[in-house]
Amino acid sequence: MENLSRRVSFKTLGCKLNQAETESIATGFITLGWEIVNFGEVADAVIVNSCTVTNAADRKSRSAMNQALKTVKQPETPESGLVVMAGCYVDGHREKLEADGRTYVVGNNHKSHIPQLVDAHFKGEILPGYPEDERDPFGYPLAGKVFRTRAMIKVQDGCDNFCTYCIIPFVRGRGISRPLADTVKAVKEAAASGFREIVLTGVNMSRWEETLSGVKLGFAHLVEACLNAPGDFRLRLGSVEPDLIDEKLIRLMDHPKITPHMHLCLQSGSEKILLAMKREYTAAGFEKIAGKLRKKIPGFNITTDVIVGFPGENDEDFADTLALCERLGFGHIHTFPYSRRDGTRAVKMDGQVPEGVKKARAEEIRRLSERTKRAYRESLMGTVQSVLVEKTELQKDGHITARGFSASYVPVRFTAAGGKNAENRIFPVRVEGIDEGDDPDLVGTLV
Ligand code: SF4
Repeated sequence: MENLSRRVSFKTLGCKLNQAETESIATGFITLGWEIVNFGEVADAVIVNSCTVTNAADRKSRSAMNQALKTVKQPETPESGLVVMAGCYVDGHREKLEADGRTYVVGNNHKSHIPQLVDAHFKGEILPGYPEDERDPFGYPLAGKVFRTRAMIKVQDGCDNFCTYCIIPFVRGRGISRPLADTVKAVKEAAASGFREIVLTGVNMSRWEETLSGVKLGFAHLVEACLNAPGDFRLRLGSVEPDLIDEKLIRLMDHPKITPHMHLCLQSGSEKILLAMKREYTAAGFEKIAGKLRKKIPGFNITTDVIVGFPGENDEDFADTLALCERLGFGHIHTFPYSRRDGTRAVKMDGQVPEGVKKARAEEIRRLSERTKRAYRESLMGTVQSVLVEKTELQKDGHITARGFSASYVPVRFTAAGGKNAENRIFPVRVEGIDEGDDPDLVGTLV
């Protein structure tokens, strides 16, 4: 009897939020009886969840679309082969994609409906066009363990900050918060379905807010409510903007279920450049927050994003960024050479920095990041880390190697008993070594 389940593959670009959405969309397809195959394998449908945060992201989104068009079953017959272009590149280039006509175009507002849309198409129903204003940012099913070991829960979408270099508010819309009760329900469901780590994600999460019986709640209230949800899990915060990190949130950092790690976006260490970026904090303020987090939890891991070569950035400004990154000793720095985005204010600013200078500055930050990352990981030698196993591998000599991440988000490898059953479980591992290379694993022994 021929396996009638249709095959779908995914290509996800960009941020953790996009990854979380893909995980949910894939779960939606599985619920409808579809088979998930690897991107590149022949499939009935291919979903590209695109990104437009930089010029490079645009190029990658277009190349993913072209790859998808090559691997999808040829759409000669009405109910065959469908490439769906979804995500931020779509919201930035809708007309062009629709004029191209080779893909079905779905913007961020309706991504959660993709499984039903595509399934209907293969049942011969006409694909509807969607009214632009209708928006369903949280209509995603709870994600199963399709591509990831940890549950990603979307709690916020869109942004009202309009940093002068950023295209996101134009493609993800205005800031919107997922109701607290709905979020806590999703956390409970994820814990009940066996996830040991839950990650809260959004575009600008620290702007989450809700007013309940006249009381205005902020991000820290949401985090507290999620921590108090029943279940044996640890909670990780996705990328957070520093402008609304308050005392309440810092006090929560020693809660037994929260992970001692935060990805706090710095972007620049120069007060002049932060102002030009229209960031809503100062470098001194950022340093203070970092200090409080590390005073609260010694060894707290802070990772960050830095943009180099922002218009007007001179050698002194860049030196300020280097000096601050040196002082703060980040666990990792994602480095972005400034990318001109049409529609943003910075694209018209004077003092555009030559590409060669951007490249050199980015290389300097990367070298610094490798150094501080290694120093942070070496500081964990001799400690016992709680490692959530993501992958296990059978070695030639028959023993099983497990690899996963510590609570402070550092990769750790150790010899595991119990083989594949070790995945999605947390083990205490004593750190005894560190690999070579620019992204070294810690190596340890099960305690
Ligand atoms: S806070 Fe700034 S950088 Fe972040 S999404 Fe909003 S506009 Fe973009």
